[in-house]
Amino acid sequence: MILPIIAYGDPILKQVAKEINKDYPKLNELIERMFETMYAANGVGLAAPQVNHSICLFIIDTHELKDKLKENEKPVKQIFINAKITEKAGENIMFNEGCLSIPDIREDIDRPSKIRIQYLDENFKHHEKEFDRIAARVIQHEYDHTEGILFIDYLKPLKKRLLKNRLMDISRGEIEVDYKMKFPVKKK
Ligand code: ZN
Repeated sequence: MILPIIAYGDPILKQVAKEINKDYPKLNELIERMFETMYAANGVGLAAPQVNHSICLFIIDTHELKDKLKENEKPVKQIFINAKITEKAGENIMFNEGCLSIPDIREDIDRPSKIRIQYLDENFKHHEKEFDRIAARVIQHEYDHTEGILFIDYLKPLKKRLLKNRLMDISRGEIEVDYKMKFPVKKK
């Protein structure tokens, strides 16, 4: 079942999400639906707040970005629960980012190329891993969603001001989008 993706302007996207335990109701079903929703929108990552659950859960699958991967770089498909980025390293690199909650806006964002992250998988097994390049990029973007941070929050004030009207249109649903979304603001 495809879930509607929460559009920019909804307060849930600005909330710090809560950690969960094994008793979280219908977690496997939610994860399954999140993958379905992400693939239907051609996304490479999706965080639970984007489907209206303010919990520390996100998924990534970088297979879609195959042509951007280096020769030895493997695509990563992974579920992250209660994740904590414990280290950011490497040089900062620019990468053109977008977000399923903010359709049609893409901007170059500077982020560290490597991260170390602790997380639980779907079986609540603990992992600590390092990721770099594309996977590190997607993880940082999705992790930010669980902290209430959007990629446009990194833009300089002037740039953000220039996007103001387009962002308002997105929150009102006055955009063309080919996947299911939920808009927070009533149309004029
Ligand atoms: Zn996003």
